[in-house]
Amino acid sequence: MGWKTLDEMDLSGKRVLTRVDINVPIVDGVVTDATRILRIAPTVKHILAEGGRPVLLAHFGRPGGERRESLSLNQLIPTLTQAFEAPVVFAADCVGREAELAAETLQPGQVLLLENTRFHAGETKNDPDLAAGMAKLGDIYCNDAFSAAHRAHSSTEGLARLLPACAGRLMQAELQALESALSKPQRPVTAVVGGAKVSTKLELLSNLIEKVDNLVIGGGMANTFLAAKGYDIGISLAERLMTDTATEIMAKATKTGCNIMLPQDIVVARKFEAHAENQTVALDKCPDDAMILDAGPESVAAIVAVLQTSKTLIWNGPLGAFEMEPFDTATNAAALQAAALTRSGQLISVAGGGDTVAALNASGAARDFTYISTAGGAFLEWMEGKTLPGVAALEG
Ligand code: AMP
Repeated sequence: MGWKTLDEMDLSGKRVLTRVDINVPIVDGVVTDATRILRIAPTVKHILAEGGRPVLLAHFGRPGGERRESLSLNQLIPTLTQAFEAPVVFAADCVGREAELAAETLQPGQVLLLENTRFHAGETKNDPDLAAGMAKLGDIYCNDAFSAAHRAHSSTEGLARLLPACAGRLMQAELQALESALSKPQRPVTAVVGGAKVSTKLELLSNLIEKVDNLVIGGGMANTFLAAKGYDIGISLAERLMTDTATEIMAKATKTGCNIMLPQDIVVARKFEAHAENQTVALDKCPDDAMILDAGPESVAAIVAVLQTSKTLIWNGPLGAFEMEPFDTATNAAALQAAALTRSGQLISVAGGGDTVAALNASGAARDFTYISTAGGAFLEWMEGKTLPGVAALEG
């Protein structure tokens, strides 16, 4: 942990240039889910309480390097004001004279919000001139945007190298939770990886095999592995060109001693829709015209048993087509078991990724997990063992 926290910085009177992720969903000008804003509020409030002057940098949507009024951050001012319980001043650019003046004249107790960093094409190219322009607006750099830390952009990477830098409260919580789960984890460690595609999570699987004791493969991904093992999977979602890769992954697991767990029984249906007529069958009994949409009760029992002997769990991806009842059954059962074990202090459980968080929220398990990462891409890249540029830059 080579990075500093806010507690190690002298914030009093300083302009604290803080990179946040406030990329919230908006419908007709109304914020429909303020979770991301609520999660950065402790950082902003802490800076204010210590007499610092928060200057917020953030991206919003994908304007592609052009000024687009529909993606202006000014529409978030009311929600931010409410969340911070402090007045929010706005500057219509994130560099230049107007922004510099706004930062210089910012009063104690006020928060300055700068315009969308991605209105500048240089942001996503990590343009050093843009980073230098931003650096003029602060005395200290604080990065609280873990979910953007897998990108080397001017506001997440270049800038961190130009000012004394630290992690904000949310970044700190994410990194501490993730480091405790994988750097020196309590063993046995079980990873659950589900979802749709092997190809997008290939690196993840390869990396996890070297680090974890048990790897539960579920969802559409498991279908590719079942096909590789010679099972007939009917019209299931699978990547049939990836079966050789799946075989290689299983061979690597045998070598490293990682226990790969695939479904032992399957829930099949002829239609991809909620409440489609379905049956639970043995692995070798998938009808030619049916698709696998969930793992069956024997598979769930095996996952539950392995969770009961595990000390650490990391989870990305559902075990079935969880958006459609009853194909959320295996995901819910495994999630609730993990939640119960976490509650009783037997398990450290960490999960991340958009679909996974939705599935854990739907089952009611999320509140008991040790940590739920709000990040999608950054969480996956961290699980893959990649260095996140935004974090590396904080380490100097
Ligand atoms: P991912 O984005 O890779 O985490 O994939 C999540 C998606 O995979 C969700 O929309 C699930 O409905 C889908 N999924 C999981 N299992 C299956 C399956 N057996 N067949 C089809 N889709 C699935």
